[in-house]
Amino acid sequence: MTPTKKKRVLLKLSGEALINEGHRGINPQSLKEIAVEIADAYKHSNCELTIVIGGGNIWRGVRDGGGVIDRVNSDNMGMLATVINAIALQSAIEDAGVPTRVQTSINIYQLAEAFVRRKALRHLEKGRIVIFAGGTGNPFFTTDSAAALRASEINADILLKATQVDGVYDSDPRKNPGAKLIHKITYADAIAKRLQFMDTAALALCMEKQLPIQVFNLHVKGNIKKALCGEEIGTLIY
Ligand code: UDP
Repeated sequence: MTPTKKKRVLLKLSGEALINEGHRGINPQSLKEIAVEIADAYKHSNCELTIVIGGGNIWRGVRDGGGVIDRVNSDNMGMLATVINAIALQSAIEDAGVPTRVQTSINIYQLAEAFVRRKALRHLEKGRIVIFAGGTGNPFFTTDSAAALRASEINADILLKATQVDGVYDSDPRKNPGAKLIHKITYADAIAKRLQFMDTAALALCMEKQLPIQVFNLHVKGNIKKALCGEEIGTLIY
């Protein structure tokens, strides 16, 4: 009997997952909580899991350069921030009992191995969670694009995007209390309606690859497990 094929998942976490609202840097308690939740969800699902983590809790190129640091340098700093977060997440997930590897797209090999697709796939086969750091390795992109890119490269079955709200709304729920949650939407409609849950470059790549995206609330306990197990939470973009 052949074992059932594991679902291959890429989980995109914003750097904000590692802080308390309104703060910067890494909050050890928030880090621990998210890592324990990821490890627990992974152990109870039949998935191969990869993670792309952002860096916005430490540095965002456009927001933080302040007109003093040029855009390319500022974006490079943002990519370094994602490496810091990836190493933190690696420690905390391993502490919670799941082996991991960090692969980066920028040369920083004393700290993490290089992104090599085949090696990443081998790690997954061996039951390790692979954390992709360094974004795409190029300025002018975001870690949403890195998530879409890596998910496409490893032939992921789904991209799970954990956010601060319940899913994709027809307008910004933080500004408009009457905003309505959308349960399902096509890539083309999401692009046409300029819904701001992911940058357009990332969305366009997912559309080309026909890679489904599920957007859900990171702050609801148990949501990562539900998403890994295929429950319909949040919004599906298909
Ligand atoms: N970044 C970049 N290229 C990439 C990914 C990220 O230049 O491929 C830089 C960019 O400056 C970005 C920062 O890294 O603002 C942090 O990433 P992002 O804003 O996507 O993090 P998140 O919002 O998910 O925490």
